[in-house]
Amino acid sequence: MSKQLFAIFGNPVSHSKSPLMHNLSFQGLNYDACYARYRLEDGTSLKKTFFALGLKGINITVPHKEHAYAACDVLDPFAKKVGAVNTIVEKEGKLYGYNTDAPGFLKAISEFKESKTVLFLGAGGTAQSTSSILRDKNYEVTLLNRSEGRLEKFKQDGFETYTFDNFIAKKYDLVINMTSAGLEDNSLPAPKEILDAVIPRAKACVDVIYGKETPFLKLAKSYNKPTKDGSDMLLYQGIIAFEYFTDHLYTFDEIEPHMKKAFIL
Ligand code: NDP
Repeated sequence: MSKQLFAIFGNPVSHSKSPLMHNLSFQGLNYDACYARYRLEDGTSLKKTFFALGLKGINITVPHKEHAYAACDVLDPFAKKVGAVNTIVEKEGKLYGYNTDAPGFLKAISEFKESKTVLFLGAGGTAQSTSSILRDKNYEVTLLNRSEGRLEKFKQDGFETYTFDNFIAKKYDLVINMTSAGLEDNSLPAPKEILDAVIPRAKACVDVIYGKETPFLKLAKSYNKPTKDGSDMLLYQGIIAFEYFTDHLYTFDEIEPHMKKAFIL
């Protein structure tokens, strides 16, 4: 078998940790492959670019997860349900699509045992796939979003949804920032009065943003709440993608110590 090539497609993509995560794992497990990054400007050219570069598999990040979904010949049932693909593997000329963000997130919050009710701040693409998997696992997910538009789909799917204007604070076991607020600015994902009403009653607060302490997590810490950022979600989605890339040659536990090194380098 000749050396296999993998990549992450996104725009921007220069900040991505995925090349380091996957290359450390290929190296550590002696798997003959290499993982690069590719800034894809036009999402509609994803399939053509994939084959032109001679790739075996890719991860897809913002803003191309819907284009990735459209490019696949075969969809895993969960990816099909949530309409977003972040991992593609080529097999005999066909593209197979998976969503590993959601199972990665599920595993990342599994440490908060006894948590059942969850408040999502935000209703974007990540909220879409993660709310679906949480519901499959019997969590009760409520969505609170800045604007009405993105809530429509969640409403149709039977979720309880609110905007800042009509939200009535209740007790939620977990409060989770699913927005990009705090990623490149210092904003909170919701008005402070709302957060001051839900955080003190929560068991823990989680952010999907990684690599920095967001204003949301700072606020949660000021209430002495256990907190968690998005690093484990990133790690776990990467391990699950690696399982698909290598056709389940290695177990999750065999891959983890190698991929984890990317977080200390
Ligand atoms: P989308 O662009 O699909 O959605 C963004 C959401 O954030 C919308 O609900 C939007 O509200 C809301 N939002 C953005 N800015 C603000 C703000 N200043 N105040 C309040 N709400 C705001 O993004 P994604 O779902 O793709 O990504 C969300 C986050 O998840 C990102 O920070 C991303 O980095 C992170 N992520 C982390 C992963 C990991 O492995 N740790 C994996 C994937 C994503 P509105 O509808 O009103 O515009």
